[in-house]
Amino acid sequence: MSLYLHNTLSGKKELFSPIKKGAVSLYSCGPTVYNFAHIGNLRSYVFADTLRRVLEYNGNKVKHVMNITDVGHLTGDGDDGDDKMVKALKREGKPFTLVAMREIADFYAEAFKQDLTKLNIQIPKTLEFASDHIKEDIELVKKLEEKGFAYKTKDGIYFDTGKFPSYGKLGNINLEGQKAGARVAVNPEKKNPADFSLWKFGTHGIGTIPNNKNVLGWESPWGVGFPGWHIECSAMSSHYFGQPFDIHTGGIDHIPVHHNNEIAQSEAAYGVPLAHYWLHNAFLNVTSGPAVAKSSGEVKKMAKSGENFLTLKKMQDEHDISPLAYRFWLLTAHYRKGIEWSAEAVKASQVFYEKILNFYLSLQAIKKGKADADLQKKFETAINDDMNTAEAIALIPKLISSTSIAPEDKKATLEDFDRVLGLNLKNEMRKEVVLPSDVEKLKEERELARKNKDWKNADMLRGKIEALGFSVIDVEEGSIMKKKATSSKPKLIR
Ligand code: AMP
Ligand code: ZN
Repeated sequence: MSLYLHNTLSGKKELFSPIKKGAVSLYSCGPTVYNFAHIGNLRSYVFADTLRRVLEYNGNKVKHVMNITDVGHLTGDGDDGDDKMVKALKREGKPFTLVAMREIADFYAEAFKQDLTKLNIQIPKTLEFASDHIKEDIELVKKLEEKGFAYKTKDGIYFDTGKFPSYGKLGNINLEGQKAGARVAVNPEKKNPADFSLWKFGTHGIGTIPNNKNVLGWESPWGVGFPGWHIECSAMSSHYFGQPFDIHTGGIDHIPVHHNNEIAQSEAAYGVPLAHYWLHNAFLNVTSGPAVAKSSGEVKKMAKSGENFLTLKKMQDEHDISPLAYRFWLLTAHYRKGIEWSAEAVKASQVFYEKILNFYLSLQAIKKGKADADLQKKFETAINDDMNTAEAIALIPKLISSTSIAPEDKKATLEDFDRVLGLNLKNEMRKEVVLPSDVEKLKEERELARKNKDWKNADMLRGKIEALGFSVIDVEEGSIMKKKATSSKPKLIR
């Protein structure tokens, strides 16, 4: 079956055709590790992981590369504002050294990987720090200099967008509409407002520290300095894939500046397209909370700098929402549609997710079946239509309630769907909740009753357990207890 994906380059859904049949190169802009990822950032990675799964479902092998930004990312995309890693060094009271900066990067990169694992996102085999690729950055900047696309100002080497006529082609960016004035003010020596830095001189604006080799910078043909933020993705993607490669992903905020800059510098250097398909996820927004005035009804993207910053852990602790229920909720919307965070909405989705888990669990003792051909085809049609996961998920209630599909085939169909949805049904359903002691005691009594074939007593004990808010699912080797799905705050701790 043909796979169609929306390509930001053309603004249309296109038939996907990889450079090498059956092998897809996929590059995703990774996190900036100066803080924990918030659940908005994680939307970007659930999206990239689902894309990988869709590609694999279609019979492709996928090589996934992701960078970890630990250098050069300023708060403003247009080379303005504070350096994010330096902000973290200040916040955490660490010295301004490369060693300390790497400690911060290691810490938040590890937390990021843990978040990915909790969301059942496969960690890309190539997940690399930008600061380990300074040599590749320098080579690329040198190439751009040789080809006449770069010029020197007193604070760094800049890319001359005037020499790259198609600058802004991704998403048809209106260059007039950009805040040109603000950018010119940052460096009056810039030839065009959209020109961006490839290499910055100095050590993150903190000056050189005499005789200290550990300053925040690297040796380069232009003296000690550090890379501009955009260069890392160009240097790293061409280092691991060559150019062009198949698919590049990121959030929509990257379209106007970061991705257009990547395209400009890579295509100017190598004379061929950077990537054939550009896919972007929309935002997770927040419309209420301290950062947004209640009466304004204004929609804001969740941002690391904002007060509405919610981590996966906080979501679990404060709202009792499991990471996989969040993943499921994200998939109930199309990745190109903005969605609004609401604990109530995610919890309602969690109820549905737990029903699916419990249904799957109830089929465990059943023999192996075959996926239902009709539903499988509908599922494939939905996901191959620019990853319409919402439509694909809508097939699940139909599957569960079907009177014509045999239970073993229902199980096989769900397992087939889960290859794309990534709800980890096989492992999740066996995870038991932590039981309060009274429920644990009733469980033991019931297992004994079942062993003695005292079905009447076993049924009575099941009733007692259920009244305490748990459901019992009998499997071959005993029984599994689950907390009953509820959309209100549960009383018992998991
Ligand atoms: P950062 O760690 O800021 O470099 O961002 C990591 C990824 O998260 C990028 O692909 C961003 O485009 C994406 N992103 C940032 N904020 C949001 C949001 N509120 N919703 C969805 N994606 C986001
Ligand atoms: Zn990038």
